[in-house]
Amino acid sequence: MTESPHPLLPTATPVLRLDDDLVQVGGVDGRAGLRLHPAGTEVTALLRGLDGRRSERTVRSESVAAGLPLEVVDDLLAGLRGAGLLHDLAAADLLATDPGPAAAARAGLELPAAVPRAGTAGRWRSRRQSAVVVDGATRVGTPLAAVLAASGVGRVHVRDRGATRAGDAVVGGATAADEGRPRALAAADAVRRASPLTDLRPLPPERAPDLVVLCHPWAAADPLSVALQRAGTPHLVATVREETGVVGPLVLPGTTSSCLRCAEARRRDDDPAWPRLAAQLAGADPGPSGATVTCLLTALTAAVQVLALLDGADEPGAVGATLELRPPDLLPRVRRWPPHPDCDCGAAARLAAAGA
Ligand SMILES: [Zn+2]
Repeated sequence: MTESPHPLLPTATPVLRLDDDLVQVGGVDGRAGLRLHPAGTEVTALLRGLDGRRSERTVRSESVAAGLPLEVVDDLLAGLRGAGLLHDLAAADLLATDPGPAAAARAGLELPAAVPRAGTAGRWRSRRQSAVVVDGATRVGTPLAAVLAASGVGRVHVRDRGATRAGDAVVGGATAADEGRPRALAAADAVRRASPLTDLRPLPPERAPDLVVLCHPWAAADPLSVALQRAGTPHLVATVREETGVVGPLVLPGTTSSCLRCAEARRRDDDPAWPRLAAQLAGADPGPSGATVTCLLTALTAAVQVLALLDGADEPGAVGATLELRPPDLLPRVRRWPPHPDCDCGAAARLAAAGA
């Protein structure tokens, strides 16, 4: 690492005093914590000063100037880091937050989840620089767009050509008062309520989105998904079919993971009549679907997948699989969709070559 990290102790981490000279940081409710001794007021000032805005180098020199021995400062930082209490930001992460105290307060709550541990500096910046298109201002799509914006995704555009129906209203999405308004405008308002400064504009033709989320129930036969596959744009299904929330597959074109058409070929293998059924499902407008709890849990499950992809975390669980949320328990079940040898996406051949 060439750059000095910017240590952040989240404001939500408790700093509790046990006696005049003993302080406990975190360590409540089953999480790791650290007890510091001796710990006078200079130590608590140092802890509260770890707001991610100063580099470690500056923290050290300013703490020494305030009267703390350097080895105490270093031991304290190493101890916090060892207990997993510190989040190391990059300077670029800080510059990526919108200006103003309100945006900083909101970002302060999102940052620890985006930069979960040492070695993940820079993830907040990549999230802030990302652009996601949500196709379909549905009972899943609109709350999902709002969650992504609130989680720091820099640009979130919701695409939809329909008008809001009474059943489209959902917590975190379109409101009852939106009935009759264009769904795209109702969705934009929902995103603004959650995150006023997020860029909602459509992307210019020369910029491909980092991800497109397909929120209509049957997207595999949609020409849009074919175009995304051809353009190499990652895409994710997030919808409710009948009563079941479905997240995935997350398609990463050009990799060994399967595509939507691989899954269609698997369904056709299971039932030769599937293409005729699928054509009717994709052609009809099924209207709003899903109970509120199903829609919101589907939106949140999808958001976790989207953020994992944008942040460059480990491979998201929905790659080559669907996470299905079925009432009444809504516990996620994983359904795998291996690449199909007949599909022209090439995933099956790449997988075979990787295996050989
Ligand atoms: Zn395929």
